[in-house]
Amino acid sequence: MRLLDGVVVKKEILADIKQECKSLLKQYGVAPGLAVILVGDNPASQAYVGMKQKACESIGMLSFEHRLAASIAEEELVACIKQLNQDDRVHGILLQLPLPDHLNSDKMLQLIDPKKDVDGFHPENVGRLLVGLPTFKSCTPYGVLKLMEYYHIDPTGKHVVIIGRSNIVGKPLAAMLMQKGDNANATVTVCHSRSQNLAGIASQADILIAAIGKPYFVTPNMVKEGAIVIDVGINRIDDPGSDKGYKLVGDVDYDAILSKVNAITPVPGGVGPLTIAMLMSNTLQSFKNVMKA
Ligand code: NAD
Repeated sequence: MRLLDGVVVKKEILADIKQECKSLLKQYGVAPGLAVILVGDNPASQAYVGMKQKACESIGMLSFEHRLAASIAEEELVACIKQLNQDDRVHGILLQLPLPDHLNSDKMLQLIDPKKDVDGFHPENVGRLLVGLPTFKSCTPYGVLKLMEYYHIDPTGKHVVIIGRSNIVGKPLAAMLMQKGDNANATVTVCHSRSQNLAGIASQADILIAAIGKPYFVTPNMVKEGAIVIDVGINRIDDPGSDKGYKLVGDVDYDAILSKVNAITPVPGGVGPLTIAMLMSNTLQSFKNVMKA
């Protein structure tokens, strides 16, 4: 059994980006800049924003943080996004989700300049992804691809079953894996909450990817002997014995399926670390697009 360690891959990607940022700074006298907008005080979102800021600092990127009150009016958020669209120091804009209920995230995401949409959520970029044009690939699915590439897992001709059809993970991941080209060319099946015979379909997968948000959902009957299992899920469950009172687990019942799999990602430490690495990679790409580097 191979453990697909995402931390190792993240470190390697960030080290390469750091090197590139250094030489681009020498060449152009400016560094890539990422702006993050956080509305409200959701603890998980605050933690993610802090991690993104730390990652920027560690590789020599500029980080611009915009923390806005949960009660902010729509016009104020719109103004903040428009201002960042105009700011030449900012090459990537990330709007941390979820937004408070009174704000429409689809509407807000569509205001971000597609050229700075390093999360790859703007419909223009999603469309470009689907037809195979260069674009910003959304970070978590892109991270899954990078993880597979690093561990020489070639999806060509393989049956990949993705459980979950969200706009953030399942749908873009399916689009990426079904494309023509390297690290793609897979036969992709997407299952979701209305799928019938989910266990039967999942158990046919050469590569099974879970992105559901339900702890321990994937059980041994859903996994083919020798399958590769990639667990995108990050779920908090109570753990009274730990300092924090909770622990993070994936969508896969890791211990129960371990003896059946050829390779598997741990949670935490699998796909998660790659998401931030790919955000940095997209921001660097945006900078290079502007500089025509
Ligand atoms: P989501 O809630 O937007 O979507 C969940 C999907 O799972 C839906 O498409 C739904 O149809 C499907 N689903 C739900 N219950 C199901 C069931 N019983 N059977 C089959 N399908 C079912 O979630 P999301 O944003 O895609 O996130 C999914 C998981 O991935 C979460 O645990 C989230 O925390 C994690 N996540 C991790 C990263 C990362 O960096 N590793 C990034 C994004 C999301």
